[in-house]
Amino acid sequence: MEPEKIYPFLQLDAVTAPYREELIDAAKRVINSGWYIGGPEVESLESELSDLLTVPFVVGVSNGLDALRLTLRSWIELHYLRKGQGVVVPANTFIASVLAIVDAGLVPVFAEPDIVTMNLSGITLGKAIADNPDIEIGAVMTVHLYGRVAWDEDMRKIIESEGLLVIEDTAQAIGARSYSVDGLFGSKNAGTLGHAGCFSFYPTKNVGALGDAGAVVTHDRKLATMVKTLANYGADRRYHNEYCGYNCRIDPLQAALIRVKLAHMEEENSARRVNADTYNQIINHPHIKLPLMPSRDCVKECVWHQYVIRSPRRNELQEYLKSNGVMTDIHYPVACSRQPCIERLTAKLFPGKQISLPVAEKMSEEVLSLPVSSATSASDVREIAEIINCFE
Ligand SMILES: *Cc1c(COP(=O)(O)O)cnc(C)c1O
Repeated sequence: MEPEKIYPFLQLDAVTAPYREELIDAAKRVINSGWYIGGPEVESLESELSDLLTVPFVVGVSNGLDALRLTLRSWIELHYLRKGQGVVVPANTFIASVLAIVDAGLVPVFAEPDIVTMNLSGITLGKAIADNPDIEIGAVMTVHLYGRVAWDEDMRKIIESEGLLVIEDTAQAIGARSYSVDGLFGSKNAGTLGHAGCFSFYPTKNVGALGDAGAVVTHDRKLATMVKTLANYGADRRYHNEYCGYNCRIDPLQAALIRVKLAHMEEENSARRVNADTYNQIINHPHIKLPLMPSRDCVKECVWHQYVIRSPRRNELQEYLKSNGVMTDIHYPVACSRQPCIERLTAKLFPGKQISLPVAEKMSEEVLSLPVSSATSASDVREIAEIINCFE
C-alpha cells in the first residue's frame, strides 16, 4: 500500500526557498562584477567567517575534502609533519576524512567512537595510540560528526603531552561550540579548538552552497599562507611555483551564495535543534536508542547536522519507516576501515595486521538518520516520532 504522505529526508529546494531572492541578488552581483575567480566576494566571505568563528585566518577553498588535504599537505611542506606519520581518525567518519590523510602520504590510525556521543573522545584517542605502538603518530583529526563537538579535557591532555597537531573536520558542525575548553572562561567555536579547522559548504551541510566549496581556518599565519599557495598551483607569487600545487580555489559565485546562507546560520541551526528536541521528547521505543542531548547550558555543543538514532533492528526499522512514507538515511553503512581502498592500503602497509574496531562496526549496522533540517516542519517531526513509536 502507498503511504498517504511522504516525509522527505532532506529537500534542498525547500531549504533554499526562503533565501531565493537574496541568492538571486548575490548571483547578480557576481555576474555584474567581472570577478569570476577570487575578488571581493571571496574576501568578504573569508572576513565574515573570521568574525563569526573568532579566528584570524580563513582561506576559502574548493570543497571540504580539499580543505582537509591542503591542510595536511601544508603541514608536510612546513615540516610540522613527515610523510609516513600516523594521523588518528575515528573509523565511523565520512570517508573524505580518511582520503585526505592518505592523499597527503600520511597513515590513517583508526580510533573507535565513544559509544554515547558516537564521536572521538580522550579515552578512544588514548586507546588508538596505545594500540598502534608501531606507528609514529603526528596528528589527530577530530571529526565533529553529526554536528556534535568532539573535544574533551582528556583529549586535550593527550594532545598536549604527545605534542600532536590537531586538525578538526568541521564539515558537519559549523556554528557548534565547545564548552570543555578554557574551563571557566567560556566556550570556543568548533574549528578553532586545534591547529586548523576544515569546513565544507556542500549543499546538504548546515550552511550549504549551491555547489561545492570549503574553507580552512587557523590561528597560524604560515599555515594559512601555505594553504592559499598550494590551492593556487603552489605559486607564492605570479608565475613562481615554489610547490607542486593544485587548483583548489573557492568559486566567487559560491562565496556570494554562502554569504547569504551564513547570515542565516543561526536560524537553520536552531530549527534543527528544535526538531532534535521534539524527537527526543516523543520517541520512546524499547529497541531504539536516542542521541545524547546536550545539557541546557551547552545546547550549542551540537548543531544536529544529523539526528541519528540506533537500533539493533535498523534495517527493519528503515523499511517500516519507508513503507509509512518516512525517508531516512544511514551515516555511514560501512566503517572507513572496511572500505575496499582502505583495506588494501592497510594490507600493503601492515601485512597481517588485524584492525579490530567492534564499536565502529556495530554502529555502522545500527545507525539511522531521521529528517531534521529546517525543511522538516515541527508537525512533521511529531508525526514521524509517532510513526516510530508504533514500530512493532
Ligand atoms: C561532507 C564531509 C566532508 C567532505 O566535504 P566535501 O565538501 O563534500 O568535500 C568531509 N568530512 C565530513 C565529516 C563530511 O561530512
